[in-house]
Amino acid sequence: MRSLRDLDKEELTGLVKELGAPAYRAGQIFKWAQKAGVSSYDEMTDVPKALRAQLAERFSVAAPQMLRRQIAQDGTRKYLWGFADGNCVESVLMQYVHGYTICISTQAGCRMGCVFCASTIGSKIRDLTPGEIIEQVVFTAHDAQVKISNIVLMGTGEPLDNYDNVVKFLRLVNDRDGQDIGLRHISLSTCGLVPRIRELAKLDLQITLSVSLHAPTDEKRNAIMPVNKAYPIPELMAACREYTAATNRRISYEYALIRDFNDTPECARQLADLLHGTLAHVNLIRLNAIAESPLRPSTTQRTQDFCEYLNAHGVTATVRRRLGFDIDASCGQLRRSYQNQLHNRQKGEEGATQ
Ligand code: SAH
Repeated sequence: MRSLRDLDKEELTGLVKELGAPAYRAGQIFKWAQKAGVSSYDEMTDVPKALRAQLAERFSVAAPQMLRRQIAQDGTRKYLWGFADGNCVESVLMQYVHGYTICISTQAGCRMGCVFCASTIGSKIRDLTPGEIIEQVVFTAHDAQVKISNIVLMGTGEPLDNYDNVVKFLRLVNDRDGQDIGLRHISLSTCGLVPRIRELAKLDLQITLSVSLHAPTDEKRNAIMPVNKAYPIPELMAACREYTAATNRRISYEYALIRDFNDTPECARQLADLLHGTLAHVNLIRLNAIAESPLRPSTTQRTQDFCEYLNAHGVTATVRRRLGFDIDASCGQLRRSYQNQLHNRQKGEEGATQ
């Protein structure tokens, strides 16, 4: 059954009309659907019972199941949310000085195939609906009893590979009768689907676009990100220039430093040349090692040197702090460890019946 949270006000207006209720009910229902923690029609006390019953026949407001919750020493919380069809996704809540930021998933799995990323190992299973993306925000906020002020679409999945649902999510979460989170407080991260970056530019949303670059040359990027073969760096950079021209927004470039692969002084030079003169900020992060890949993180010294080189050569760069380090808090690792456990348990059960 579809989630009531998938519907925007316009669709709700059409729906209540179809059900013979006055138009203003749409606004009430929207507020309830988008409110943190609401998981039953019983809570919608100012909506007539008969209308609630009609809605309940067609749309669900059930909460996703909290399959796991881990709380790190630094307060970072990681959730694994399970949906009715058995799929699960992870979300991470982080506390910064300026408030709470949630990192959410946009797909169950991912089909982009980046070699360093745990989320893509089982490929994509399905896209999340706008409501399922919202649910990560509202149920995490409710569980942690906090007001979330920033959202990053940097969990599992490629947001621009689920373009329509993600754009609808942005509008829903931005609605002042919903979570009312400003678009300037939302970052969307992409591995570089060039046609979709161009489409997004036309919408002129005030979100921050993050581009996962991770290498300064096509040769190196091809080796770790298959998407680069379809959309090589010159095309990607052209789309980024279009994006900044259309939106006037600075682009953030993600760069995971991998030991002896993309962390050399030569790479720093090439990256500075590539980005010099563009409206850019480089987010450096030491690679999070995953068991399935031989790639290792760069050293702290190399990371610092890399950062200093960029800053000294006209490209602003910072090293991202690693939060939730003790709880597998990054890059699809919790979902993956949960799935491995399920798989092993099932294998065990099969073994027991043989
Ligand atoms: N598909 C989108 C968003 C999800 S990934 C994208 O590619 O941007 C969010 C960020 O985490 C991306 O920059 C991604 O490249 C990075 N990432 C994935 N695995 C990582 C790892 N093992 N170590 C460091 N960063 C990683």
